[in-house]
Amino acid sequence: MGLRNIRIVLVGTTHPGNIGAVARAMKNMCLQQLYLVQPKQFPCAEATARASGADDLLHDAKICNTLDEALDGCCLVVGASARLRRVEWPQFAPRECAAQLLREAEQGPVALLFGRESSGLSNAEMDRCQYLVHIPANEEYSSLNLSMAVQVLAYELRMTALEGSSFPAVKHDRQVATADEMEGFIQHLQQTMQDIHFSDPRQSTKLLRRLRRLFNRAQPDSDELNILRGILSAAQGRKSQK
Ligand code: SAH
Repeated sequence: MGLRNIRIVLVGTTHPGNIGAVARAMKNMCLQQLYLVQPKQFPCAEATARASGADDLLHDAKICNTLDEALDGCCLVVGASARLRRVEWPQFAPRECAAQLLREAEQGPVALLFGRESSGLSNAEMDRCQYLVHIPANEEYSSLNLSMAVQVLAYELRMTALEGSSFPAVKHDRQVATADEMEGFIQHLQQTMQDIHFSDPRQSTKLLRRLRRLFNRAQPDSDELNILRGILSAAQGRKSQK
């Protein structure tokens, strides 16, 4: 079950050859679900050539206009980052990342995000991730080719999946909210903070990032998010009555 529920999401890929090489790396490691968010050029003969035999994955790849589409229904989102980031985002090592993704993948779809060749993932895209994963490469030369990064993380997933029985799925007694439900809540929170003059959104990026981290850590379910949203709506309503 696990590996089949893992989406590899490539954001804004520039070189179609990399997309093909990613499909090959995925198929070698038994991953199937490829999502492409605004690829520069796809479909493309170069991608098919580099996939060499993994073109079924290219054929089945989902092409998305927005990251939201690619993350639809996911309960865990992890972003792969070539650089070590500041504390705002909790960070995994590749092996821990594999274990966590596989555990959650027993419950539903999960996503592993990869950024652009030139600039990686934007801050807004990383805001959609509960965790980041960094391959601890040479500190002075840490950026791997996109498809190589996918290969390393796909290998860790495969190894962890093969160990299988030593990774019993942690069964949640409740369904953790999906990435889109969490995003809806965060937007609502941001709007409310603005409406009640708690903060100016232009200056509150860092604050909001910390709040995201808090709510991601808490892993609320949909009902709990609805309760929180009810409180936000009440606060907004009270403000507008004044
Ligand atoms: N120049 C970009 C890196 C682009 S590499 C930057 O500095 O951010 C393309 C993608 O491959 C990255 O966005 C990331 O998803 C993945 N990647 C490359 N090296 C990685 C590493 N050491 N650890 C994790 N992901 C990596």
